[in-house]
Amino acid sequence: MSRDPRYDILFEPVQIGPVTAKNRFYQVPHCNGMGRSYPSSMAEMRRIKAEGGWAVVTTEEVEIHPSGDHSPWMGGRLWEDCDIPVLARMCDAVHQHGALAGCELNHAGVMAANRYSRDVPLAPSHSPVAMPDPVQARAMDLSDIQDLRRWHRQAAVRAREAGFDIIYVYAGHQLSTISHFLSPYRNRRTDHYGGSLENRARLLREVLEDTRDAVGDTCAIALRFSVDELMGADGMTSDGEGRDLVEMLAEVPDLWDVNISGWENDSATSRFKASGYQEDYIRWVKGVTTKPVVGVGRYTSPDAMAALVKDGVLDFIGAARPSIADPFLPKKVQEGRIEDIRECIGCNICVSGDNSFVPIRCTQNPTMGEEWRKGWHPEHIAPAHEQESVLIIGAGPSGLEAARALGQRGYRVTLAERSKDLGGRLITERKLPGLAEWGRVVDYRIWQVSQMPNVEVFLDSEMSAATVQEFGAQHVVLATGASWTRDGVGRENPRGIPVDAKAQVLTPDDVLTGNRPKGPVVIFDDDHFYMGGLLAELLAGDGIDVTLVTPAARVSEWTENTLEQHRIQARLMQLGVRLILSHNLTSIDPNIATVRCGYSGKTTTLNARSVLLVTMRTPHEDLFHDLILSDGVRATRIGDCLAPGTIAAAVYSGHRCARELGETDLPNVPFRRELPALASFDMDWTQNGS
Ligand code: ADP
Ligand code: SF4
Repeated sequence: MSRDPRYDILFEPVQIGPVTAKNRFYQVPHCNGMGRSYPSSMAEMRRIKAEGGWAVVTTEEVEIHPSGDHSPWMGGRLWEDCDIPVLARMCDAVHQHGALAGCELNHAGVMAANRYSRDVPLAPSHSPVAMPDPVQARAMDLSDIQDLRRWHRQAAVRAREAGFDIIYVYAGHQLSTISHFLSPYRNRRTDHYGGSLENRARLLREVLEDTRDAVGDTCAIALRFSVDELMGADGMTSDGEGRDLVEMLAEVPDLWDVNISGWENDSATSRFKASGYQEDYIRWVKGVTTKPVVGVGRYTSPDAMAALVKDGVLDFIGAARPSIADPFLPKKVQEGRIEDIRECIGCNICVSGDNSFVPIRCTQNPTMGEEWRKGWHPEHIAPAHEQESVLIIGAGPSGLEAARALGQRGYRVTLAERSKDLGGRLITERKLPGLAEWGRVVDYRIWQVSQMPNVEVFLDSEMSAATVQEFGAQHVVLATGASWTRDGVGRENPRGIPVDAKAQVLTPDDVLTGNRPKGPVVIFDDDHFYMGGLLAELLAGDGIDVTLVTPAARVSEWTENTLEQHRIQARLMQLGVRLILSHNLTSIDPNIATVRCGYSGKTTTLNARSVLLVTMRTPHEDLFHDLILSDGVRATRIGDCLAPGTIAAAVYSGHRCARELGETDLPNVPFRRELPALASFDMDWTQNGS
């Protein structure tokens, strides 16, 4: 197949200062939890993006100096010359495929507590750091400003030495000292670096000029700028100072990389924002500058991308998450394989990896973060050693991914599903408010297996130990999922919650299959991810009186990692859901739920016609145990049947099973590790290096 001419425009080369991008697909900076700590993992992940056709592949935030030390986040570093080889590895990898490598230099200022370096953080004005640490940043004097300019310049020279083609000046997301100087919210200075926009932009202008002076003859200078901080009059707005700034510096950088701020707004989840949600903020930028403009908006459709270029909104289609979910997106458009694009679902599990300081993971792309350490390629997989048969039972995310990947390996796969539809838990969960895009996880896989002659799918096929045995497959994989527990067993109550037999108790499965509780309803969320808050939203939206009780201090607490927590709590408050935080549910009686404060121990009774328990799930493992008792069948469990978890974990589990089937002698540690090189133990080192 070849490219649809409608998409030709996406493959035009674009000049960026002294360098040329071969097409309009641009992987904007994104963190990945690997960075400087797992450099080969990071480099191989970026290489695969370049192999997949992205014309520009950039780093995550790269620190320029110990006074802007964003530990424990695992970004890049160019503090010293010894940091150069780490990033050179990425540049070499990206260049292998004719892509340009970009480097996002940053000084995090008041965003960083300098936990590792123990330097005093720097800011335009005295201020506590944005991390919860009891640390204060000091106001920069004029010599500090000169220092920062020098550090940035030195880092730019190092970046060029590492091999980068595009060097960023970062003024976005409220994550950089330059953006803190720009922001009227943070900059209280009264000298010529504070006050008017002209003054607040002085540092940005100087750093842009310094960078051009240092490396602008061979490297393009990109400016990453958040045109709107979504703070109204307290911050920059796209119809106010955000626009004024672009007009002021219109021709200074070689490229404008524009978005909205902070990160939680730029990387909004699909639950809260549709694809293209940033367009209204940045649409005017191209009318103000002749320089190329890149913007983002979780674009996965080539039609939407082509329209953005044709309509003069963007020159480059920027992507972080769509390039994570499908590193081969450009190549698939090029080859006319649109149906094969693995579209991002906007869940931000990728962000959760970085926020937990571990390698990135992705719901849609189980190979993300595993490219180097496991040698997993997103498009290729080793063929089966033998043309054997595999019976997979259960067609949720894990079963479908196992079927897809085993089918790709050449196994003869039978997928048996007891219900009339494919998709498992996502059949119902995708209907919850805001989760429609999550359905792409199963839609993509259903389409893929439908194209494989060696994968047969049987619906309405409940399997038992007897039918499994009768079927006689050489391998059996159980992907039978899990059900929410009705007894309250969970984190806070490992032995369950006493329930009177006459009380009305429901689980998420009841609600998901259409059973609406009678109000007033008490939801007990001991799970802390999306389900408790989402069911509260659903029921309150239906006009039911809802109280949400959770032992956590905040609603849906873990969603802090997916940048959604504040939005979820705000939405529940808007819907009038009563929130009882830091409380455990201790007993359930007819029309009464008793809760206890986690601090004072004081108990309170709540009027509850129904109680909805969101605590934990129990794996469907009866079939597994029945098979153990029967002769000759050895089954492998995957996904929620093995241990209930995220959809990302289920997809990963299905993929891993497919990669490992038929492999023998699997090592105890099933991936390569990258250990730090031991430095000299010489204790004579001094600040001067003598
Ligand atoms: P996961 O997230 O691990 O993929 P799901 O709960 O989404 O798990 O999917 C499990 C699927 O397994 C469901 O579609 C369910 O109908 C199916 N299933 C469970 N038990 C059987 C069985 N004995 N025979 C066939 N299908 C089954
Ligand atoms: Fe998209 Fe979710 Fe993958 Fe992130 S984890 S790239 S949001 S599908």
